Amino acid sequence: MIVFDLLCGSGHRFEGWFNSAEDFSAQKKHKILECPTCGSGKIDRVPSAARVNLGAQEKPKAPEKTPEMEGKDPFAIAQMLYSKMLDEVLTKTEDVGTKFPEKARDIFYQRDSVRPIRGVATEQEHKDLVEEGIPVTRFPIPPKNKLN
Ligand SMILES: [Zn+2]
Repeated sequence: MIVFDLLCGSGHRFEGWFNSAEDFSAQKKHKILECPTCGSGKIDRVPSAARVNLGAQEKPKAPEKTPEMEGKDPFAIAQMLYSKMLDEVLTKTEDVGTKFPEKARDIFYQRDSVRPIRGVATEQEHKDLVEEGIPVTRFPIPPKNKLN
């Protein structure tokens, strides 16, 4: 839709909504347009007041960029951030493998020294840990970052 500011022959200003500039011209030509105040059919566009209504007033903001993200597409950036996070996790945690649920409990209930661990758990084991209030996080490991 396009909004035009319109002016009648008697000087009344009003807005007119049209599908296009051609739509406005056609309506004017066929004298469909009339002033809502005085009914005058002598209508003209007020110059330079056309606005295009796209349904959104503001453009979406671009995400913050770091120099190394320059020129990369959003998918590549997401992968990069994820990879960084994964490196962090892999270098700062002890791999306890399938003993993860057992170790997580030992640490949580202070039967073992407190340290960050990683490992594997089944869906049910994960659910049990969460229900016990043990803080565990899970995330998928991309093939190229295999744990072992
Ligand atoms: Zn008028």
